[in-house]
Order: sequence, then structure tokens, then C-alpha cells
Amino acid sequence: MSTVAVLVESRDGSVTQPTFEALTLARTLGTPVAVWIGAAPAPAEAARLGIHGAEEVRVVDAGDAARLPAAAAAALGAATADADVVLVISTFVNKEIVTRLALATGAGVVVDASDAEMVDGHVETLQTVFAATWNVRTRIATDKAIVGIRPNTTQASPGETPGAATLVEVAADLPETRELVTGVEPVPAPDGVPLAEAPVVVSGGRGTNGDYTLVRELAELLGGAVGASRDATDEGWISHEHMVGQTGTTVTPALYVACGISGAVHHRGGMQASGTIVAVNIDPDAPIFEIADFGVVGDLGDVIPQAIARIKEVRGS
Ligand SMILES: Cc1cc2nc3c(=O)[nH]c(=O)nc-3n(C[C@H](O)[C@H](O)[C@H](O)COP(=O)(O)OP(=O)(O)OC[C@H]3O[C@@H](n4cnc5c(N)ncnc54)[C@H](O)[C@@H]3O)c2cc1C
Repeated sequence: MSTVAVLVESRDGSVTQPTFEALTLARTLGTPVAVWIGAAPAPAEAARLGIHGAEEVRVVDAGDAARLPAAAAAALGAATADADVVLVISTFVNKEIVTRLALATGAGVVVDASDAEMVDGHVETLQTVFAATWNVRTRIATDKAIVGIRPNTTQASPGETPGAATLVEVAADLPETRELVTGVEPVPAPDGVPLAEAPVVVSGGRGTNGDYTLVRELAELLGGAVGASRDATDEGWISHEHMVGQTGTTVTPALYVACGISGAVHHRGGMQASGTIVAVNIDPDAPIFEIADFGVVGDLGDVIPQAIARIKEVRGS
């Protein structure tokens, strides 16, 4: 049975949802072990990793130095020397870390994958590329495979039998780096679910005319994050962290709701791989309808309140 190492992502000491998704995927590839870079996790967090199948929780406490990708790659390498597959969440920084790890180990690497499976003893991945216009299947030919997996592409679920989640301390030899971390300060996190990880994204564009009240209300009701088009952020209606698209954040939620967004190619490039796309637009010829699974031609000021009321009615709240 292959050993599949999953690099844990945590926020304020809590394991994030994409990690559980990666562990769920890891169970289909072999025996999952979790790799925690930093001071040892709280027992409850280690237990959650076990519930999702982690047989071991390998802790590499390399201090703040491991915030540098070169050092993090060495730390991850030390904890995954025996692993046949290394799975990470496909974040910006993780892509740099795994590229370095691939160079150091000779492993094949694929990032931004939406799925992975074992075929004839090799990992094969699926990616949606070029603004979600092509699906690509890639076989990793090397014995060791590294895969960066996008959030929200696997439904997280507990394992049928929990993993032991045995804590194992791993020592890492960190390389001399040309940069030194001289200070670390947490940035206050924005309210709600981070855009890139959110299972639901409700986005507003120029059609909101700058009023995000309804978009925010629908996002909150659906437990999602608020997104925006670049025109909306350029207008200063909402901050740039909310921008979805080629120059903004790439999102792959299970549900993407585009409100008053035309569906320009630059916007589509960052959301086209979403599970279900819903569009609300007054213009029946808006390009967003070409990729929408469900489209409503109408004024968002009429349509969204009706959607909110109906959702509340169905939920009985
Ligand atoms: C190099 C480059 C990179 C870019 N990167 C990005 C990017 O990352 N992300 C991004 O989003 N854009 C990006 N853009 C900009 C992109 O090309 C579009 O200009 C932008 O996405 C349009 O935003 P929009 O859909 O909000 O506005 P518009 O294109 O003006 O569309 C507004 C839509 O709202 C509809 N509407 C109006 N009123 C209502 C109403 N009351 N109810 C319902 N619908 C209504 C209209 O029918 C229209 O379809 C980039 C552009 C360039 C050149």
C-alpha cells in the first residue's frame, strides 16, 4: 500500500477544510499520513486528522525559518522521504515549495489538479487549464509523485475507520537560505470564509452599481464568500482581495453565483471550473450565460431578494 503524505494547512492552530479534502483523496491513493510543519498541533486537531484517515501526524517544528519556501521544502522532504505520493493544497506558496521538493527528489509534480487516482501503479491527475477550456489528464511517470490539489474539488468525509494519528517528531536539516525571516506578525483575517477555499462564492460586478448588500446577504445565507469582478474592485466598491479572475483569485467552489457580471474572459478564467454556475443578469446575451448551469435574466435587485426569501422558506427560518 502506498504511503500518501498530506501537508496540513492550518489557521490559528485549526486544520482547514481543504486539508480534510486532501486526506479524503489520499485515502483513495493509499495510506494517508499528515505532515504538520510548526509546533505540535493541539490533541483535538491531531484527532481530527485521524478521523479523516491520517495514520500518523508527522511534526516538523522548524520554527519561523520554515516560512521560507526553500526551508519548507526541506522540512516537507524530511517528513516525506518514504512517501510514494505527496499531496499539498495548491496555494501560491505551496506551488513553490513542491517545485523545490520535486527538484530535490526527482519526483514528478502536477499542481492545480482537480483529482488524482492510481492507475497501474502510477498517479494520474486531472487539471482544468487555459481558463477552464481544456481538461488534461497527466500520468506522473516517476515512482514518487507530488500533487497540488485545488480546494473544493473533493468532498471531505471521515474515513470508515479512523487513522491512529500517531504523533511522530521529524528533525529537518534546513538549508542556508539567502533570505532570513526577521519578523512575523499575523494579519487580521477578513470575516468569513477565505475566497479561495469557500465552497460557495457569490460575486457581484458592475451590475450591483456598488451596492453589495444583497450579494453579501446571499453569501452569508449560503455560508459562502463574497467575490467581485475587477471593474467592481477598480471602482473601489469592494476591496481587491475579493477579485475573482485571471488577475484575481482562482476559485473552484461547488456553487458560484455571478450577479451583474458580464462574464468577460478574464473573469471566467478564475471561476469557470466551479461546480455549478448560476448567473443573474439583465442582458440575455451576456457571455456569462454561455457557461452558466442555471441562468436568470432579470434585475439582481428583484431576483436576489426572491432567492433569499425562497431559501429561508425552504429552510424554515
Ligand atoms: C489584462 C486584464 C486582466 C483582467 N483581469 C480580470 C480579473 O481577474 N477579473 C475580472 O473580473 N476582470 C478582469 N479584467 C476585466 C474584464 O475584462 C472585464 O472588464 C470585467 O470582468 C467586467 O466586469 P463586470 O462584469 O462587473 O462589468 P461589465 O462587463 O460592465 O458587466 C456588467 C454586467 O452587469 C449586467 N447588469 C447591469 N445592471 C444589472 C442589474 N441591475 N441586474 C443584473 N445585471 C445587471 C450587465 O448586463 C452586464 O452584463 C481584466 C482585464 C484585463 C485587460
